[in-house]
Order: sequence, then structure tokens, then C-alpha cells
Amino acid sequence: MGSTLDLIYSPMDVQKIRKDFPILSREVNGRPLVYFDNAATSQTPLQVIDVITDYYKNYNANIHRGVHALSQEATDAYEAARQKIQKHFNAAHPFEIIFTSGTTHSINIVSNGYAQSLQKGDELIVSALEHHSNIVPWQMLCEKTGAILKVIPMNQQGVLLMEEYEKLLSDKTKLVFVNHVSNALGTVNPIKAIIEKAHAVGAQVLIDGAQASPHIRADVQALDVDYYVTSAHKLCGPTGIGMLYGKESALKRLPPYQGGGEMIAEVTFEKTTYADLPHKFEAGTPNIAGGIAFGAALDYINNIGMDQIAAYEEELLQYGTAALEKIPGLKIYGTAPQKTAVISFNVEGIHPYDIGSILDKLGIAVRTGHHCAQPIMDYYQIPGTVRASFSFYNTFEEIDSMIVALKKALEMLQ
Ligand SMILES: *Cc1c(COP(=O)(O)O)cnc(C)c1O
Repeated sequence: MGSTLDLIYSPMDVQKIRKDFPILSREVNGRPLVYFDNAATSQTPLQVIDVITDYYKNYNANIHRGVHALSQEATDAYEAARQKIQKHFNAAHPFEIIFTSGTTHSINIVSNGYAQSLQKGDELIVSALEHHSNIVPWQMLCEKTGAILKVIPMNQQGVLLMEEYEKLLSDKTKLVFVNHVSNALGTVNPIKAIIEKAHAVGAQVLIDGAQASPHIRADVQALDVDYYVTSAHKLCGPTGIGMLYGKESALKRLPPYQGGGEMIAEVTFEKTTYADLPHKFEAGTPNIAGGIAFGAALDYINNIGMDQIAAYEEELLQYGTAALEKIPGLKIYGTAPQKTAVISFNVEGIHPYDIGSILDKLGIAVRTGHHCAQPIMDYYQIPGTVRASFSFYNTFEEIDSMIVALKKALEMLQ
């Protein structure tokens, strides 16, 4: 099993870091790639890719069942990854970390688990800033149970209105689910206060950390959060793997979502008893290489340092914001005082898709559209935005290239 990281970066040496990401030196449409779609998925460093190939080359085996050496090695590596995730998020126990296929899967495990305990008239609270994957599963749950979904509104800056949130809370509130950071606008939400206020009325809280995890290390015990979910592919890990953190007491009460192998203690045709945590929620053969690589991705970003990453990305955000604001007719959506390096914008009279297409021809990868957050677009009464989202491996020069390309695009379109 290869070591996950040999280099220590201090202080952040972006040019050195970029060498870990071979994809960043490829060309797109004859131009150097500028990858600014990090909020959709991050790129994968060699240190993580190597861990995946090492697994398939050297110790590919099913876990938790074999007595043979390969199975033991795979099990050890998988469980070591679980412990890395536990440490990173400061969970009290490794078994509070459930491996899932990603944020969407994690949210569905929790929402399905509430189908039996909710009653007609119970209330659930979501925010106006959510990704569809933190809206739709709960709407399905409301349809099943007769529970009612209430929405915390936001203002023009893309900041949630906490006074309105407080008005929505009551003893009818059973669950609150909010993202830590909005993928569409970059707003960092005051989750500590949101959690405290929900707990004061006896409600539980799920935080969607998919967009926060690459930039902010959540401490689940300090937050006292009931559930925290994320996907590895947003933080330099592979796709198809993520986590559901749940407090031991919450996970013990939550019924399992899927039945199958690995999740049982005993099966007869009369009755099955479920396995202990975390296996109760991990039916079937999991994404073993993915789980191990998730751990390696955390090693990778922790070796650079989350604080260094956040500080550098803040500089990119300020630089990019200042440069974009100089462009006539350009409007930035999401101007919260606390935000991550996501800039959503439009230029007056031009469809975001047209800007995105021309930028792509010039090698610049941005996202256009509603970013799986249609309610936010409806709030601003726009079809979508162009979204540039930065990571620690991006540079100021790349932002300059985007500005040059954008000016070219606007000349063609205006
Ligand atoms: C990316 C993202 C999701 C969805 O993650 P998947 O990996 O597609 O399940 C959910 N919420 C937020 C805030 C996201 O950024």
C-alpha cells in the first residue's frame, strides 16, 4: 500500500501543487485548460489516483468477509479510511461515519429513515439556498407522511433571514436541513446558530456539507449536529463515494434504508435483525477503492492545510470579484459577507449559456445554468447564471485569462 503523500507544502506553493494534477496541464480547444467548475467537481491529484490503482493492482478483495490476506488488507485500508474521516470531522466514533455513494445518497438514507416516525402536520424546515438534492428527497417524504415543508427565506445578498427562521420554528418542527455553503452563490450559512435554535425546540438537524468540505473543516461535535453529509468528489476524491455522519443516538434510532448483505446480524425467513453501526446502513459490497481514496483525499488536503487553502481561495475570490465587477453590465449574484470562492454572474441582455459556450471554446470551463438550485434562480427571476468556482490549485493568471476571454465573448455577443 503506497503512502498517500510524500510532500509537505509550506507555505502554499501553487505551481508545485499543480504538478500533482496532470489534468491541469491539458489543452481544451487548442488552449490551456482553465478549470473553474470546482463547485461541480474537483480535480484529482496523483496521490489519490495512485491509491486507487494501488488497490486494484495489489489488494483488490471484498471486505469484512474473507479470511484470506487480501480481504484483510482491503478491510484494514477501508476501515483506516473511515477513521481518517472520523478524525477530520472530529466525530466521536468511527461507526458514526457511514460510507455512502455521495451527498444525495446520504440525504436519502436520512429522509427515508423518517418515513415511519413522521406524522401528518409535522413540520420540516429547509432553506431557500438549497441544492435540489436537499429539497426533493424531503418533498417525497412530505408526500408520504403528510408532513409540511417550510422554507427559510433569503435576501438579495443571498443571506438567510434568521429572524424568519426563528418564526418558523415550533414544537411541530421535527427536522431542519440546510447547506453549510450554497453551491450556487457560495454563501456560508450560520449553521451553528441554526442548529442551536432547532435543538431548542427539539428538532434534529441535517447539514449538507458538500460545498463546504473542500474549504471549511466542520467539527461535528463542536457543532453538535445530528447529521452531516458530503461527497468525496468535491474535495479531490473520486466520484461515487461520500459520507453520512450521524450522532450515535440518531443513527441507532434511524431505520435502515436498503436491505441486503453486510447489514444484518441474523437472517431467517421469519425475521432479520440488523447489524450494528455502521454496517446497518452499508448493505452490499461498497465502493472499496473509493472509500480508501476518500481517506487519501483528506490526507492530501490536510497536508496542504485547510487554513492555507481557505486563505488562498479568499484571495482568489477577492481578485476575481474585483476584476469581474469592472465589466460594464455585469452583475454578481450572491454577495454575502461570508462566502467561499464561488462567483455567480450574468451580463445584462446576454444568456448565461452563450457566455459559457464561448468561454469553453477559449479553454475556460465554467458552469452555466441553475446549478441544481432553481428556487434561487426563481428568487432573482433569472434563468441561470455563469458560475466560476475556484480551488486552491487555481491561479491569479487563470482569472486574468478568464477576464480576457469574457471580454472577447461579450464583444461577439453584444
Ligand atoms: C454537489 C452538491 C450536492 C450533490 O452532491 P452529489 O455528490 O451529486 O450527491 C448537494 N449539495 C450541495 C451543496 C452540493 O454542492
